[in-house]
Amino acid sequence: MSEKVFDSEKQVTSFKCPSCSKGYIVLFKTIYDLPDKDKMLIIKFECNNCGFYTNDIIPLTTRMDPGLMILTVSNENDLKSKIYRSPTGKLEISELDLKVDPGPSADFYYTNVEGILFRFEQAVEIYHNSLDDNHPEKSEMRETLEDLQKAMKGQLEFTLKITDPTGGSYIIPEDSSKYTFIKI
Ligand SMILES: [Zn+2]
Repeated sequence: MSEKVFDSEKQVTSFKCPSCSKGYIVLFKTIYDLPDKDKMLIIKFECNNCGFYTNDIIPLTTRMDPGLMILTVSNENDLKSKIYRSPTGKLEISELDLKVDPGPSADFYYTNVEGILFRFEQAVEIYHNSLDDNHPEKSEMRETLEDLQKAMKGQLEFTLKITDPTGGSYIIPEDSSKYTFIKI
C-alpha cells in the first residue's frame, strides 16, 4: 500500500482512561491519502498513563459538523452503527428514557449502539437491585430492563439522537437510509 500521511493532529482530552481510570485519553487524528483518491481519517485513542489504546478508521466523508444526528434502530445490524459523542454532545433515546448530558467530565463515549445499551443496562440493573421490592419505581425499572434487553436483540425499534452544537460527534450508520443529519 502506498498511502501517505496527509495531515496529523494530536489532542489531549478530558476523558479518563476506561482501562486504568487514572490517565487521560490523547487523541491522534491522521488523515491518509489512499491511492484510489479516497481519504481516510484514522483516530487513535491512547492513554497517557497505562498505554491502553484503540484505533478507528473513518471515511472522511463522515460529517462531524454541528447539528442534530438521528438514527433509527430496528434490527441487529443497526446496533453495530458506530457512535462517538463528544463532550459537547447530548445523547438521547426517548423510548428507553436514556439520556446522556453534555459535559467535559462525561465518560469516554466512543462505542457503537450496542455498547451504549449495554452500559445503560448495567446502570439500570444496579439501580433496580438497590431498590426495595415495594418501592414504586421497582416495576418501572424492571420494564426498562426488559425493553433494553429487547432493544439489544434488535426486537424493539427506537430512535437515537445526538445534539451537538459545536460539532465533533458523529454516527456512522450500518444502514445509511436510517440516518438523518440536520444542521443547527
Ligand atoms: Zn490508562
